[in-house]
Amino acid sequence: MSKNLRVLFVVAEASPFVKVGGLGDVAGSLPSALKGLPQMPDVRVVLPFHRTINKEEFTLSTTATFSICNNTGPFQIEVWETEVNGVVYYLVSADPIMGAERVYSDDNYKDGIKFTLFSLATLELGRFINWRPDIFHAHDWHAAPAIYAMKTDWGADGFYENTSALLTVHNLPYLGTGADKALKAFGLPPALRGILPRWARRLPLPLGLLSADKINTVSPGYTAEILTPTYGVGLHKFLRTRQKDLSGILNGIDVEEWNPATDKALVENYSCETLENRRINKKHLQREVGLVPIPDVPLLAFIGRMSRQKGVDLMWNTLPRIADLPWQMVILGTGEETYENKVRRLTDKYPDRIRAIVRYDSELASRIYSAADAIVIPSLYEPCGLVQMIAMRYGCVPVARAVGGLRDTIRVYGESSKSTGFLFQAANPRVFADTIRKAMVVYHSPERWEGLQRCGMSQDFSWTRAAREYYQLYESMVAEKRRVKYES
Ligand code: ADP
Repeated sequence: MSKNLRVLFVVAEASPFVKVGGLGDVAGSLPSALKGLPQMPDVRVVLPFHRTINKEEFTLSTTATFSICNNTGPFQIEVWETEVNGVVYYLVSADPIMGAERVYSDDNYKDGIKFTLFSLATLELGRFINWRPDIFHAHDWHAAPAIYAMKTDWGADGFYENTSALLTVHNLPYLGTGADKALKAFGLPPALRGILPRWARRLPLPLGLLSADKINTVSPGYTAEILTPTYGVGLHKFLRTRQKDLSGILNGIDVEEWNPATDKALVENYSCETLENRRINKKHLQREVGLVPIPDVPLLAFIGRMSRQKGVDLMWNTLPRIADLPWQMVILGTGEETYENKVRRLTDKYPDRIRAIVRYDSELASRIYSAADAIVIPSLYEPCGLVQMIAMRYGCVPVARAVGGLRDTIRVYGESSKSTGFLFQAANPRVFADTIRKAMVVYHSPERWEGLQRCGMSQDFSWTRAAREYYQLYESMVAEKRRVKYES
């Protein structure tokens, strides 16, 4: 097998340039983890040069200039290059990209133009610098038009004939709705009548799903779920036709960054051997957020986007059902106003035991992971989820809904000697409340609780594991391409 497989990541955000959510983490960590494998693939990343990227922080040089037309005229494209952790990053600048205030806006048409232009520019970039990737690895709807274009007229010159396209779905419901007119403006035709439902034939993500050689989601559990009516957002029947090309690879977390032994945001660092230091962190956190510092009352936490997906309503309906028990709770999150207000009202309702902190604060998040006894994750769906992995690494026991990546990463208490947390099935306040009650019983049995904490802390959630799995997938794609070519 080729020693230096060429892989191009095509993605809307990548840390350390720009990070809005988990996607930025993936594109920031996975490329360097891949480069660190013994096979040392040549991995490069291309992303839009968003206005929020701080130019001063990076040494940038111009790599390519060209233009791309749509029905309103030509757009001048300039591609900048820099290197971070040994990985080459290309930043694509053009008026619709630099002119946008936010990475993702509420204007679907403008976002459609921005990301379609970006997608097409990534194909032109390869031609311009004469660097043909073996694997064109696109992420989510923002990069999906590139795959569709590659497989239609834009790939007609044969430059990408030997390139295989992988589309990673981080969150299926984000289909690129509203971007259909933008695709049309750039001359990308709708899909022909066929296996895609009619309503999906002009949307970026479905078109990417139709034309990619392989598709994966960010957990095996979510991959199985999107084939069902409940999670398939109307595409489940179509996705079943692509089942043989569909897989799931769990995300990792940056285990250097998320390390309770070295995390500078903590009051007391600790490891499996010094778990008792968590008690100091708990006392400090209770004081920091204004709760009474009682040591033996279970301290629950919730960290996440204030959105429907994260199960804020379910949490709201569940907490009154456990009000007879002693516990305290810290909630940290930002997002939609409705949900932000909802958690604020929880503090008003339970002033002695709940604190809701509505802001984005990474350091406070670290301190919560290092201090809370359990973290509740009642998500309605969860493609992978980082919160449960970070929590386990910090000895904070997850009580989560058995969906997607949550089910794949948490081993249920009582079902094995290596249990790491608690799961519940139905999105139902009674079931969720019963599971919290069960967790609290175990909490009051310190030996058993510590067993859960230690097992969670010793899991391997590193990106190296994910990188190995992606590499295997890339290799199988290259082999399949060769086979198809040989046979035809
Ligand atoms: P998402 O669906 O939002 O990507 P994940 O569980 O995959 O959810 O990742 C969420 C990440 O964002 C975690 O690292 C979590 O600690 C962090 N996070 C979420 N909300 C906040 C907040 N308000 N302040 C600090 N960190 C947050």
